[in-house]
Amino acid sequence: MEKLILPDIPHLRHIDVYEMRGGYQALKKALGMKPDDVIEEVKKSNLRGRGGACFPTGLKWSFMPKQTTKPKYLCANGDESEPGTFKDRAIFEFNPHLFIEGAIIAAYAMGVKTIYTYVRGEYAKWITLLQKAVDDAYAKNYLGENILGSSFSIELYSHKGAGAYICGEESALMNSLEGDRGYPRVKPPFPAQNGLWGCPTTINNIETLANVPIIINKGWEWYSQIGAPKHPGTLLYGISGHVNKPGIYELPTGVLLTDLIYKYAGGVLGNKKIKAVIPGGSSTMWLRGDEIDGVKMDAESLKAAGTAIGTGGVIVMDEDTDILKILTRITHFYHHESCGQCTPCREGCGWMEKILNRFLEGEGTMEDVDLLLDVANNIEGNTICALGDAAAWPVQSFIKKFRDEFERRAKKTPSMKKPVKPPHLVTLEV
Ligand code: SF4
Repeated sequence: MEKLILPDIPHLRHIDVYEMRGGYQALKKALGMKPDDVIEEVKKSNLRGRGGACFPTGLKWSFMPKQTTKPKYLCANGDESEPGTFKDRAIFEFNPHLFIEGAIIAAYAMGVKTIYTYVRGEYAKWITLLQKAVDDAYAKNYLGENILGSSFSIELYSHKGAGAYICGEESALMNSLEGDRGYPRVKPPFPAQNGLWGCPTTINNIETLANVPIIINKGWEWYSQIGAPKHPGTLLYGISGHVNKPGIYELPTGVLLTDLIYKYAGGVLGNKKIKAVIPGGSSTMWLRGDEIDGVKMDAESLKAAGTAIGTGGVIVMDEDTDILKILTRITHFYHHESCGQCTPCREGCGWMEKILNRFLEGEGTMEDVDLLLDVANNIEGNTICALGDAAAWPVQSFIKKFRDEFERRAKKTPSMKKPVKPPHLVTLEV
């Protein structure tokens, strides 16, 4: 299968090479189309967001109001910070103009005049690479006033985050861009109605936007034939953990998870068995090693398998992995990154981490497992943003699939300590 986002073309990040390989032709074609026709083309292609939620991109664009006196904004979300996810930085490094071209087309389709690219603060090297590409695009009038002789003008600003995972959440990202603390906002209102500075805003992932020039160039019929019918295209699968060849693999959606691990990533280190796989970044539900056969890597197939495609960041753990330690580390991450606005997330993530640490120290009991599940269940669905769910899902799936890990490590004698109840279970004694 031909690679669309990261083709094997040396020096493709340089604008001259990109142009020689047909770069910015899609933009020229799009500028000759009506904006609504561009949206329709993307809608019909069935392109779905690559940032985790898998929302249909063309539909999202169509939510932007047409009749408004307010400025409209496009935010390109490059704040990828989820453990196991490292795909957008590859686009910044190897094919940044594909993303820039896609972002300009998206802006044209939605009547946007300003694009903000929000890049994870730790990505210093990649911000530099992106900025060079942006400067080159300005120099050739792909960005700026009356681009390519048209009446369409567009500005693109690269914004460096300050290292907070929560700023990848779209409303926290907007707050951060406005100069405020990266607090997620209560929705509704949604960004298309009330986004940056109260104006209509669309937020798209970097990889999502990089797909747009391909759709415009090749047409929706061609694009929608690639991979899984309801989730077409290629994905940048990032595979890490105990595999021989970790890295990014661009393959069609719907590829077998076992092919990804054994055919492309070179199999498991030392030919060991697989104990567990996280299929789509640390927030997705875990799979046991003995249930990955036949599982396909697309939104519908992974949902049927009880998990999610997320960002396509696959983490493989071999049979000797202390997976309880991994879960504790992941839970620590979400506890650390919680913005603290919602009680269930702020308190619950810390509580889950404490319980898990009790098991690592040999002090956990089987009552603690029920308590852990109770805390996770009371976080899920009870918070402003999805970080709470992201913290709860790995814990819930782990308890469901690896209860034996707790049993193996549980304190053999009953704990003398009175279990501490979560706040909602505390009853007043009169
Ligand atoms: Fe903040 Fe967590 Fe609530 Fe999200 S769920 S708003 S991160 S406290």
